[in-house]
Amino acid sequence: MPEKGEIQNEKFKILHFASCILNLVMRIDILSLFPKMFESPFSESIIKRAIDRGLVSIFVHNIRNFTHDKHHTVDDYPYGGGSGMVLKPAPLFEAVESIKGEIGDTAPVILLTPQGRLFCHQVAQELSSQPNLVLICGHYEGVDERVREHLVTDEISIGEYVLTGGELAAMVVVDAVVRLLPGVLSSEQASQEDSYAQGFLEYPQYTRPQVYREWEVPPILLSGNHQEVARWRREQAIQRTLERRPDLLGKAVLSEEERKLVDRIKAKRDRA
Ligand code: SAM
Repeated sequence: MPEKGEIQNEKFKILHFASCILNLVMRIDILSLFPKMFESPFSESIIKRAIDRGLVSIFVHNIRNFTHDKHHTVDDYPYGGGSGMVLKPAPLFEAVESIKGEIGDTAPVILLTPQGRLFCHQVAQELSSQPNLVLICGHYEGVDERVREHLVTDEISIGEYVLTGGELAAMVVVDAVVRLLPGVLSSEQASQEDSYAQGFLEYPQYTRPQVYREWEVPPILLSGNHQEVARWRREQAIQRTLERRPDLLGKAVLSEEERKLVDRIKAKRDRA
């Protein structure tokens, strides 16, 4: 009789085999001036497990390896003057062309930039259906405009603020995309109820102890009545979304009963 771990391993082998046949193994190539920054985030937890199981391959390339001078120059002063340095086009073009030599010409080439479209669950979902992604991390004042015009196919911003470099942004994108890949999360984790997955924020979560500093877990969660628990969670998710992100609810699919609940919550709020 196989041990639990062996069964799991067999499951992962079958999953990996199926993923390969169905071309589900995603390959992500990242261009960075600071490849070491990626070592820790990609060698822990769920991303590490996804890599170990062969569900995703991640290659971090040092942009300096695509220079030809003895100082490995990747940046230069901006034409027209101004502060800071700009990443030169040649190393980025050569790096992407070299990667495309391996993965083909159709992969999205994404520049991380505060000027890109805002990253969100839908964008993560869209990217997770791609077999390949190439991510370019800018630094200093950014990249030569010809990279944006003639090399990249997409530009993504992780928020309306400016980071010192694209590395943290690339990590955010990779993390959010990889956790959506089939088989990366176990079925218990792969919750369709995660915030944003269905146009709601998630309901409140509790764990043991049942009473902490006199604060009790809602009794419904201890009732063992799965239908009632599901109902309570759905209501909580709706209420929370209405309170914090009412803009999301417009896109969510609601039953007649849930619409009435929204109206009741709104009416109560208006009275308060
Ligand atoms: N001068 C640029 C501007 O004003 O648009 C900002 C350059 S920023 C200091 C350096 C690099 O960090 C960018 O090229 C980009 O790769 C990355 N970066 C900064 N903020 C980002 C954000 N919100 N989302 C994605 N990447 C970002």
